[in-house]
Amino acid sequence: MSDSTDLRVRFAPSPTGYLHVGGARTALFNWLYARRHGGTFVLRIEDTDRARSSTEHTRAILDGMIWLGLDWDEGPYHQADGLDRHRADALRMLEADKAYRCFCSAGVLDEKRAAAQARKENWRYDRHCLRNVTPEESARRAAAGEPHTIRFFVPEGKTEWDDAVHGVVSFANADLEDFIILRSDGTPIYNLAVVSDDIEMRITLVLRGDDHISNTPKQILLYRALDAAVPRFAHVPMILGADGKRLSKRHGATAIGEYEDQGILPQAMVNFLALIGWGPGEEREIFTIDELIERFSLEGIVRKAGVFDPTKLEWLNGQHLSRTPALELEPMVTEKLVNAGLVTHTELDERRDWYLHLIDLLKERARNLDDFLRQARPYFAPGVAYDDEALAKHWKNAEETAARMRALHDRFATVSESDWNPEGLEPVLRALADELGTSAAKLIHPARVAVTGMNVSPSIFQVLTALGKKKTLTRLEQAIERIPAAAGQVAP
Ligand code: GLU
Ligand code: ZN
Repeated sequence: MSDSTDLRVRFAPSPTGYLHVGGARTALFNWLYARRHGGTFVLRIEDTDRARSSTEHTRAILDGMIWLGLDWDEGPYHQADGLDRHRADALRMLEADKAYRCFCSAGVLDEKRAAAQARKENWRYDRHCLRNVTPEESARRAAAGEPHTIRFFVPEGKTEWDDAVHGVVSFANADLEDFIILRSDGTPIYNLAVVSDDIEMRITLVLRGDDHISNTPKQILLYRALDAAVPRFAHVPMILGADGKRLSKRHGATAIGEYEDQGILPQAMVNFLALIGWGPGEEREIFTIDELIERFSLEGIVRKAGVFDPTKLEWLNGQHLSRTPALELEPMVTEKLVNAGLVTHTELDERRDWYLHLIDLLKERARNLDDFLRQARPYFAPGVAYDDEALAKHWKNAEETAARMRALHDRFATVSESDWNPEGLEPVLRALADELGTSAAKLIHPARVAVTGMNVSPSIFQVLTALGKKKTLTRLEQAIERIPAAAGQVAP
């Protein structure tokens, strides 16, 4: 067995909120790392904070990961299921004199903290119970049921590690107080629960947000005290909004589920998230998920905070839309169309080839699935919704335009169903333009508005083909009736 198969990483979200952009990016990096190296990706829900955790949030986190395609190999484990082990680990350290009981009440500690602050000093626990309570007395008071916490005894020296992103990071132990590992109610403090779980789950690389850097020296001390191997650490930089401030609701959607609702493709979201704080070292931006797996490395993670740029996401989404085969887009597009009440599954099944062709036609210009829906409307809805700007631009000379549309209508009426395709329609339109002594554009633009209501569309001949003869002729009729009025509205 090669040792890469022993690589184990985890994503350990706290279900106190939805899966947000930063969490999703951490999950993605862990997943990419595991898939790149054939390692194991563990999902652990850190739900020890009962009051703030909810199953609704857990569900949303799982849904977000499923949507992104980040499948986990083990779990979801629940941190709260490990309470007995967390407690046992704390007691093991107590037995080994790596930790001690603290009987100081919260009130006494608060007073001491306030006094230190008044002297403008940093308060650190003063080791009162280490110095003044003998081991025998400590055991006796605990046995008598006196409330106490368990504190870790921080040794002298310094604690450092070679972070895969930040290089050597070093903390003076003197700056760490003897931190609590077990509360007086017997529940573990975060740092103990995480270390106990990561040991139990044999995690070899801890890749997480760099807001955890200050926890890391404490965690390393716990690994050592528990005689466990210290994993590798990689702390990824945080994500900022375009204004340089930490990403928050102010910057728009931060929950991954909202992007699904906005019609972003999961593969575009994955591509986008991967490039925040990581780079493949090449001048390319569009990657499939497989290409990302092939390229992912810890060396490519940058130290500098990443920026969340919604414009880039939109652009990447458009790029992925146009590159994704119609068959793959079909389920997502169908859901949108059916939910919008434009068509039924049965109707789509009856014209499946036409439908797949339409998806291929429209995907080139759509920025997201909602945009796709907007563009697809004219092919399903009975009429068109005319865009004001398009009317102003292409229907302005009412009489002339109406006459041209009339001529186009009559000419198209002579085209047979079997010639109703781009090759058959284009010469007919161009010949008519010549006869009328005008440019093809003067027919194409108003006709596009007439049949789609919009300013832009794929090639008009493709559009007419997709619409079919009957719908095209009806729309041209409707336009001829509307043009004088529409031109009247928009004329200066
Ligand atoms: N549960 C922690 C969080 O959501 C992550 C802990 C870790 O990755 O070590 O911030
Ligand atoms: Zn104490």
